[in-house]
Amino acid sequence: MEVIRSIIELRQAIKRYKVNHMVDSKIGLVPTMGYLHGGHASLMTRAREMSDVVVVSIFVNPIQFGPGEDYETYPRNEERDLALVEIQGADIVFIPTVDEMYPQPTKTKIIVSERTELLCGASRPGHFDGVTTVVSKLMNIVQPDLAFFGMKDAQQIAVLQQMVRDLNMNVEIVPCPIVREKDGLALSSRNVYLSSEERRQALVLSRSLREVKGELDDGKTVTASEVREKLTSMIVSSPLAVIDYVQVLTFPELILLQDDELLADVHDQVMMAVAVKFGTTRLIDNILFMPKEALSLV
Ligand code: AMP
Repeated sequence: MEVIRSIIELRQAIKRYKVNHMVDSKIGLVPTMGYLHGGHASLMTRAREMSDVVVVSIFVNPIQFGPGEDYETYPRNEERDLALVEIQGADIVFIPTVDEMYPQPTKTKIIVSERTELLCGASRPGHFDGVTTVVSKLMNIVQPDLAFFGMKDAQQIAVLQQMVRDLNMNVEIVPCPIVREKDGLALSSRNVYLSSEERRQALVLSRSLREVKGELDDGKTVTASEVREKLTSMIVSSPLAVIDYVQVLTFPELILLQDDELLADVHDQVMMAVAVKFGTTRLIDNILFMPKEALSLV
């Protein structure tokens, strides 16, 4: 595995792969912010299955953090990350410094409208502009055929799919399922911030989402507002939970369902998405439901 820190060397390494192997080698990119866990590993496994050359990037991107967010304290452990990426069989790991990626403050940003204006985009102004800008830079540098992202950040996938389509970028965004701990907690680099009591109470997120999805799968007819109320009341039963949002919307279009809309009647895939703070740690989680009406159209 090659560990590369400069953009020029990364471009050269990818060119070398294309010359030495096949001109049409499929390049797979897995962008991460490091402090890697099983969720990141699952993206790398998928990338290994679907690509000839796997490039993993590790970069804590300052421009996707807002003022007062955790950019400085975001967990980092390069040595451990390199070992994990190596085990996953990546060919190249790209670890640039902030100066390498942003030698001057960027005057150009990629901004996706609509899909960024709700959920995490509403709570974290500018966050997705930072994400789409850095992902575009990585795409321009690596020129991947495939790019792998986790459904844990479902809105990010919806936003990137919109960007790739709107800008005719020659890359396929490959969504990968959420990896969870045995007890249901979605893996996240930020889980290390949780105290043991916060972590215990945070299980309410996956539990509530799974329970509502189970009822929907069993054919229960419920409206969007009933789903939101049920999720909310389950979540607030954990005293440490402070809700940022509980939403029911189509995926990947991210259109909020009307309060009285029956989920079973929706013609698209439906996502239930939550963001909840436990202490200073903001966690997100989601689950998808495929209504029969939508299935009949597939
Ligand atoms: P991050 O390092 O948190 O920016 O995440 C890098 C990539 O890993 C993103 O595409 C995330 O959606 C994905 N990811 C993070 N946590 C998980 C998880 N629990 N399951 C699947 N993918 C994940």
